[in-house]
Amino acid sequence: MAASGKLSTFRLPPLLTIREIIRLFRLKAVKQLSQNFLLDLRLADKIVRKAGNLTNAYVYEVGPGPGGITRSILNANIAELLVVEKDTRFIPGLQMLSDAAPGKLRIVHGDVLTFKIEKAFPESLKRPWEDDPPNVHIIGNLPFSVSTPLIIKWLENISRRDGPFAYGRTQMTLTFQKEVAERLTANTGGKPRSRLSVMAQYLCSVQHVFTIPGRAFVPKPEVDVGVVHFTPLIQPKIEQPFKLVEKVVQNVFQFRRKYCLRGLSMLFPEAQRMERTGRLLQRADIDPTLRPGQLSISHFRSLCEVYRKMCDEDPHLFAYNFREELKQSKSKSQEKDDDKESYVL
Ligand code: SAM
Repeated sequence: MAASGKLSTFRLPPLLTIREIIRLFRLKAVKQLSQNFLLDLRLADKIVRKAGNLTNAYVYEVGPGPGGITRSILNANIAELLVVEKDTRFIPGLQMLSDAAPGKLRIVHGDVLTFKIEKAFPESLKRPWEDDPPNVHIIGNLPFSVSTPLIIKWLENISRRDGPFAYGRTQMTLTFQKEVAERLTANTGGKPRSRLSVMAQYLCSVQHVFTIPGRAFVPKPEVDVGVVHFTPLIQPKIEQPFKLVEKVVQNVFQFRRKYCLRGLSMLFPEAQRMERTGRLLQRADIDPTLRPGQLSISHFRSLCEVYRKMCDEDPHLFAYNFREELKQSKSKSQEKDDDKESYVL
């Protein structure tokens, strides 16, 4: 506390610019790792502002790279920042930041896909799920190839309230390819409505907070970048196991231009496909001629509830995979053809 009685605010001392850090440590972006760096610190500040009030927060930054967003987070009056970076070349530059912000920055050389953040911050930060979100935030500008599988993994963590959500309803501010950001936030009937829209929106309040033009990054990616903010919902809009919801949603969207009936039918073995699909749609009270993108979250809730009952009635149903059935029937017909050929011979 400052002598005036006001909370003292921390600011990083003058530092080399990110461009100078890149030059000093020869941090050439590796194309295979889809590295694109944000050098404009005003944009980094804007991402961090969109995360919310970070005063005394514990922040987990994924993929800090040369540290542009890292600097903005350190200037946001946080309690502690933990960064996880896979590429060792960035560690010395991050170490310089850590020296400039004593006791505030913890650097982990590791992989965000396996790092266990649930053990990294004090237990005292944990909040009951129904409370306001804990003072724990996730922020990151990751390669697009990592951010999409990672958000699916974290959505599953939200459904189980584990991983980063062991602290409570931890908020996330993450970047995605703009098209993916649009899919995550698409409304029912919107063109980008997809599997990701339903999976994200049944568990979280999701906002596409702003778009950063590709030219703001070095090297410039082919696409623009969307910044998306997620707050887990107290009550998920579908109260069924994540894997069951995922299966229904994936099946529906695999034929996105057809009636929803088409994708849903693939949940059932061929022998009873039409009859059981009809029963599912009737019990869920869904018009079979709706297209996948026209189904609302409450349509999906009804479908998942009825499908769950059908799985309870038939314990083999959930494990059914139409691709497996297709493969088996193809190999059987191949065997028949081989038999015919050997007979002719
Ligand atoms: N955050 C920096 C910025 O905005 O300038 C760097 C962004 S760059 C798109 C992505 C960063 O994530 C790189 O530093 C890359 O090495 C790191 N990264 C990629 N995959 C990772 C993973 N699985 N775990 C941790 N870091 C990863």
